[in-house]
Amino acid sequence: MNYDRILVRYGELSTKGRNRNQFINKLKKSILHVLRDYKDLKIELGRDRLFIHLNGTPFEAVREKLRRVFGIQSFSPVVRTGKDIEEMKAAALELVRRNFSEGKTFKVSARRSDKLFELDTNEINYTIGSHVLRNLEKLKVDVKNPDINLLVEVRAEGVFLSCEKYSGAVGLPTGASGKAMLLLSGGIDSPVAGYFMLKRGVEIEAIHFHSPPYTSERAKQKVIDLASKLTEFGARMKLHIVPFTAIQQKIQEQVPENYTMTSTRRMMLAIADKICKQRGGLAIVTGESLGQVASQTLESMRAINEVTSTPVLRPLIAMDKLDIIDVAQTIGTHDISILPYEDCCTIFTPPSPKTRPKLEKVQFFESFVDFEEMMEEAVRDMETIQLPEEKAAGEFSDLL
Ligand code: ATP
Ligand code: MG
Repeated sequence: MNYDRILVRYGELSTKGRNRNQFINKLKKSILHVLRDYKDLKIELGRDRLFIHLNGTPFEAVREKLRRVFGIQSFSPVVRTGKDIEEMKAAALELVRRNFSEGKTFKVSARRSDKLFELDTNEINYTIGSHVLRNLEKLKVDVKNPDINLLVEVRAEGVFLSCEKYSGAVGLPTGASGKAMLLLSGGIDSPVAGYFMLKRGVEIEAIHFHSPPYTSERAKQKVIDLASKLTEFGARMKLHIVPFTAIQQKIQEQVPENYTMTSTRRMMLAIADKICKQRGGLAIVTGESLGQVASQTLESMRAINEVTSTPVLRPLIAMDKLDIIDVAQTIGTHDISILPYEDCCTIFTPPSPKTRPKLEKVQFFESFVDFEEMMEEAVRDMETIQLPEEKAAGEFSDLL
């Protein structure tokens, strides 16, 4: 008897009310996305559980990928039996026997959502537990910290048994909370900001400002790689590459040196806002963290933020750099971020940017140029890449 499907548990709290169906469908979509290479899998939706039928695919192959999907609380590979007690006992014994070696302890953890089932939870624990103990000499019970925890779920659609349980990535399924635009540089912070928003169920489209020939193709590739990495967490992603050279040059010409940083950020945010409106986004996300660099003081954020009334979300605002680096390492973006290729900001950074820029001043400096027209042009000329690159969108739709 082999595990032939995966039972996926998702948070019951977040699945109440009208959002329930949307939540489950987004979760299904995320799972199909991360497991798209396994063509034999089939997904079946249950009330507060979801099943992935393996159809011969080894569970170990999909386990690590599934652990990254937001919205999953935990999951177990399971075998299914009918509601016949003898059948359940036999399956339980077989599963424990496989995991047993001398000295190991065990317990049974039953759950019963089918209230019509003849035994209650305690009776299931007792009936199955005593059967297994009778048949496996030297097996001992430990209810607190067992080596083998035999899970038995009695549900309307059948009985599911497993000796394994893996914790999921929790959070909300990507897309369940709407869409936002992520300002993605090649640095350490913004991919982490994107990750946190994905975790709260936000679908992300990334925007990167590129300034050839000051910034190289490799800098662009680095951002493509970072965005691709983020797609491992359950969603495809569009990456918009915006040509920014002309605007940066104009800023260098027109704006006093200590204000160029403020102006640059304002243009970035204003362009992001245009793309956000065009793409039906609800917010803009940045990797800013308070006090980290000159442009990240409250005064500075206020002067920058003035260009839009769209919410600007800064999930890292109160985090320390070392903590951000930890997350970057865990999610696998850190080593890409530290590659040396410069982005447009690094190259144009003035030696001493204003840490407390005055809004009126920056507005005045910008008033001599038709930046509006330049920004429209940048949006018109942007390049959009669908990630991950190797798969066309419809390719696994037959699984749906
Ligand atoms: P990061 O590590 O994300 O690059 P940072 O510490 O370098 O951040 P800044 O250079 O002040 O900080 O950038 C602040 C935020 O502005 C970034 O987190 C990112 O969201 C956005 N940003 C900066 N440069 C770019 C760019 N070239 N394209 C898109 N967004 C950018
Ligand atoms: Mg940076």
